[in-house]
Amino acid sequence: MFCYHCMRKINEGSTYCPHCGRQSFPDRDPHYLAAGSTLNDRYLIGNPMGEDGFSINYIARDLNIDERVAVKEFYPMGLVTRDSAISGRVSLKSEQEDFRASFERGKDKFLQEARLSRQNGTADVRDIFSVNGTVYVVTSLTRDMRTAPAAPDGAPLPYEDGFEGGAGQNSNNVTDIAGKPPQKKKVSGGMIALIVIASIVVAGLIITMIVLFSGKGKGKNDQAATTVPTTVASTTVETKATQAEDTSVTMIDVKGKKLSDAQAQLLALGLKVETSREQNADVAKDYIIRQSVEGGQKLQKGDTVMLYVSDGYEEVVTTQETHAAPVFTSAQGSSALSGYDAENVLNNDAKCWATEKDGKDAFITLRANSDQWVKGVYFGNGNIGDFQNWGRVTNVRFEFSDGTSLEKSISDISDLQTIDFGREVKTNSMKITILDSKTGSEHESACITYIKAY
Ligand SMILES: [Zn+2]
Repeated sequence: MFCYHCMRKINEGSTYCPHCGRQSFPDRDPHYLAAGSTLNDRYLIGNPMGEDGFSINYIARDLNIDERVAVKEFYPMGLVTRDSAISGRVSLKSEQEDFRASFERGKDKFLQEARLSRQNGTADVRDIFSVNGTVYVVTSLTRDMRTAPAAPDGAPLPYEDGFEGGAGQNSNNVTDIAGKPPQKKKVSGGMIALIVIASIVVAGLIITMIVLFSGKGKGKNDQAATTVPTTVASTTVETKATQAEDTSVTMIDVKGKKLSDAQAQLLALGLKVETSREQNADVAKDYIIRQSVEGGQKLQKGDTVMLYVSDGYEEVVTTQETHAAPVFTSAQGSSALSGYDAENVLNNDAKCWATEKDGKDAFITLRANSDQWVKGVYFGNGNIGDFQNWGRVTNVRFEFSDGTSLEKSISDISDLQTIDFGREVKTNSMKITILDSKTGSEHESACITYIKAY
């Protein structure tokens, strides 16, 4: 049995991980591969370490070698979707031909980059394979991955706690943590560290996106250059020979360049430029996708060339009517035991909200800054650090700001469970009232560890 966060071994039947100090919950966001599933009969998938709009990076365990690895999945957000509750397969958001073509091009590029980084030694690529309708690249887990995009929920990256291989340091960590009571482990100092890490990670993500987009431009440019070396070689000679007739010009390749740069260069050659805009997931907004006349071709001054310019792909996403993942930022309880505040349900850690008495008719209200689209919640019932001894909820009512409500029964399990509403609700608050509860063997207070809307 392995911790979903760091993929190190933990005790059978326990959710507490002594290596990274977190509760080992699977991330059940349906667009991620199901944590705990196996890929290619070899890689046990853990929680995602980050995603950048083009790929998702998971921590995983290579079951053959029995070692932790990183598995990167090609998953272009704008083009594909997945509900891992049903299947790990990705499906295109549209069957339109240009969607498929963009996806295939992106896939090729993803693999090319992986092979290249293996060749030039920038990544220890161990495996490449195709499954689930997309492609995967497996690399060794390195410290560099700290600069990878955000860990979900601003959680610490799984390697923050020292490395496998550094056995001495590692076992020190373990005993250190094991010596403290699990409940009190992460206090305010830890929280501050978390916030700092989260901000660094967000900044890193933004930089990654910028580099990625400008890199896209350069990538295209390089590709174009390698596809026309023969024509370039022959036409440079010709250009010299025909320099006397100055009405003749040789078209240049501007694919992947910024529109303003391309326009300036073509105007300098004496050509006229017209533009046509289209949506494209591979080429950043305002960069050239293709041109009506290929580089190396002969033209006359005053000729017009058409440039096809990318409008980006964000519009494609919005026309799909997909809503951003809902975020609720505060929680207030009708009552709480001291040290077991309602806000504890916002974090996927060992701390829970505990009601006074048995909690019947107690309620907790989660609030958002604006309307959110909610399909259900991931629900951590009870006190996850001491499940049997504390009370759990068995029936709850959800009430939303649109005036609707629904009742749900909650399973008596310590694993994170999915409570699906069966519809999408637009709401800025969720009031959850405990209709029935079950007392624990030592405390009658009903507890909830985690509530996260999806
Ligand atoms: Zn762990």
